[in-house]
Amino acid sequence: MQKTLQEEIRFEGVGLHSGLPSVLVIKPAAADTGINFVRVDVKDAPKVRALYSNIVDTRNCSCLADASGNRISTIEHIMSALYMAGIDNAVIEVNNPEVPIMDGSARIFFSRLQAAAKVEQDKPRRRLKVLREVAITDDKGNHISLAPSEAGLQIKFDIDFPSAVVGHQVFEAEVNPALFASDISPARTFCEKSAVDYLKSIGLIKGGSLENAVVLDGDTLLNPEGFRVEAECVKHKVLDAIGDLYTSGYQIIGALSAFHTGHYHTNELLKKLFADPANYEIV
Ligand SMILES: [Zn+2]
Repeated sequence: MQKTLQEEIRFEGVGLHSGLPSVLVIKPAAADTGINFVRVDVKDAPKVRALYSNIVDTRNCSCLADASGNRISTIEHIMSALYMAGIDNAVIEVNNPEVPIMDGSARIFFSRLQAAAKVEQDKPRRRLKVLREVAITDDKGNHISLAPSEAGLQIKFDIDFPSAVVGHQVFEAEVNPALFASDISPARTFCEKSAVDYLKSIGLIKGGSLENAVVLDGDTLLNPEGFRVEAECVKHKVLDAIGDLYTSGYQIIGALSAFHTGHYHTNELLKKLFADPANYEIV
């Protein structure tokens, strides 16, 4: 059956780019309504459903917008936590154009969602079963595909970064809540110091710090505490991919395989999947 929360959950933090305080409140919602974000700081509190077709920007995060251009960015970590906590329906109120970045991972979101009381609703949960492989390859040779699988969501992710502290990392497993709790949800977003310096110079990532990102300077990791989990960087890519896949509106029975891809590729993959009803069935 579909599930929602019994009571609301509140998170407070800052927006990664604005550096401004951001409060996020996850509330129960009716069956068959999915995950909807609401900008409570905007007149008439516009609402936008967290669907791939409402994603308008994928450059540094996944950003939703409604038809009037009211944006909510960095939805992927909370979406990933909602997927793995089995929350089908929720209204997420935000008082800022950005979801709070918290510690750059989904650990706090997931642990509180897992611990929260849930309500079983009166409609069955339906999942998206992949029937035919769909794939995207960009002009740099980065590629992503979604193929049929026997059960659950299988993910293979492969990254290869020049920094020696990252290098070649591969993740391959069927994802489930236990693995998400131990290995995936704690994995923080990561970036190069040169990119951080550039983004700061153009007035972005005002809220970014070593408290909410893994920062690499050449072959050096700048975070004094080191990595949280083995192969943290590729596990963060898996975290992002799960959140982006949840903008399909469904949990997925399929096998994702990705090489060096990001939010843009996952979004294009979903567009291609939904473009032909022969690619999937809702079960
Ligand atoms: Zn991320």
